[in-house]
Amino acid sequence: PEKQLLKTEKIELPLRHKILSMSAIVAIVGRPNVGKSTLFNRMIKRRDAIVDEISGVTRDRHYGKSDWNGREFSLIDTGGYVVGSDDIFEKEIDKQVELAIDEADVIIFVVDVTAGVTGMDDEVAQLLRRANKPTFLAVNKVDSALREVDAVEFYALGLGAYYTISSINGSGTGELLDAVVEKLPEDSGVVEEELPRFSVVGRPNAGKSSFINALLGEDRYIVTDIAGTTRDSVDTKYNRFGFEFNLMDTAGIRRKAKVKEDLEFYTVMRSVRAIEHSDVVMLVLDATRGFEGQDLNIFWLAERNRKGIVILVNKWDLVEKETNTVKQFEAYIRKQIEPFTDVPIIFISALSKQRIFKAIETAVEVYNNKTKRIATSKLNDTMLPIIEHTPPPSHKGKYVKVKFCTQLPTPTPQFAFFANLPQYVKDPYRRFIENKLRENFDFKGVPVQVYFRKK
Ligand code: GDP
Ligand code: GDP
Repeated sequence: PEKQLLKTEKIELPLRHKILSMSAIVAIVGRPNVGKSTLFNRMIKRRDAIVDEISGVTRDRHYGKSDWNGREFSLIDTGGYVVGSDDIFEKEIDKQVELAIDEADVIIFVVDVTAGVTGMDDEVAQLLRRANKPTFLAVNKVDSALREVDAVEFYALGLGAYYTISSINGSGTGELLDAVVEKLPEDSGVVEEELPRFSVVGRPNAGKSSFINALLGEDRYIVTDIAGTTRDSVDTKYNRFGFEFNLMDTAGIRRKAKVKEDLEFYTVMRSVRAIEHSDVVMLVLDATRGFEGQDLNIFWLAERNRKGIVILVNKWDLVEKETNTVKQFEAYIRKQIEPFTDVPIIFISALSKQRIFKAIETAVEVYNNKTKRIATSKLNDTMLPIIEHTPPPSHKGKYVKVKFCTQLPTPTPQFAFFANLPQYVKDPYRRFIENKLRENFDFKGVPVQVYFRKK
């Protein structure tokens, strides 16, 4: 956490476009067992593991952040999303590669030197050759120089030069990463305007398009079409219900590939970019289907990226209601997003336009919470008495004394508490402090970070 803090301090800046500068997306594709997830784990930042430990929640193990030579990017292990028998594998893999081509900025195609070129490798290569995407062929499991020679046969895939790597011992991966970051698009996220940026995400058929239509009606609320911050995405500036905001369209309307299947991979790929580019994520659920794996994955994706979150339980018109239905549904969702339960949940119907205004109003509220600054004096006046009353538990007879706290000038709420022995403050106490912050200052819908530092 200490290291993380320093890192965040570095990005402290009032300039919004820097805050929004988005990470490019790198997708790892290839057939099963070639070593994709091993490579993914090697490339992923340790930081994520630490974050996971702190929150004690199992997260999506196939999406993460990585950086190399100072370039940060999002990494997706597409193979992690494959489920099913060998039969559907081939078709699924084709689909995944197509989606990766659509959504990623750079593709790493992993093959296995010990298996040689297989039919499925050929098929994937064919798709990749036709696509106009920077692609790197990584011949994996080259654990020793002896296997270098065997790698030659992969020239036959027609993808040009390849990189021999060993995901297990790391050899060759540095060269591969050098080449990958070289091809990442330049940060183009120059946004002059200080407008909230919202995205509407959720799995296919949850009702995202219907919600956007209900929210915006026809095009008359569009103020301007801002040229997309990336080649394939479109941000549109709207003025609706008296609120001005940018909306990132993920409903797929403008997308080339019309994949309607409910693949987890599809949902993640479609959501990553939108989530990263927004301040507040509106996660649309289909009430008749509950809140499950895919929805949770999107939720954690947003949380991990420290975005504001509003959960919209859509198709509420289809649910048979009794006195406690709303309460029960809400409790069911909150249970699953523990320990981050302070998230607004709104029951809507895109079809009958029920609570559409409430949804957008809440998103604006969350945005305000996310950008809120608590004056240092007020923060200390509130928090120090609480800490005095309930101090961190002593550790080996030593007492932690907190002297001072302040909100860091970061794009999302982060608080530093200065103490004599910060290393003795454990997670439960950190969470206690977070809860007290939430009780005293409204941070509904916003991930909050609490650090203890040496004073
Ligand atoms: P995925 O299905 O493509 O994600 O493949 P995994 O990452 O799960 O790896 C499949 C198997 O190959 C596992 O038993 C790994 O330990 C092994 N493996 C992965 N990378 C290497 C490597 O560089 N060298 C060797 N010898 N084995 C590897
Ligand atoms: P998307 O894939 O998330 O963009 O979902 P769509 O907006 O295309 O909606 C999927 C289906 O759900 C369509 O048939 C919609 O008419 C239907 N739908 C969306 N919202 C609602 C709702 O609030 N109530 C009901 N009953 N149906 C809805």
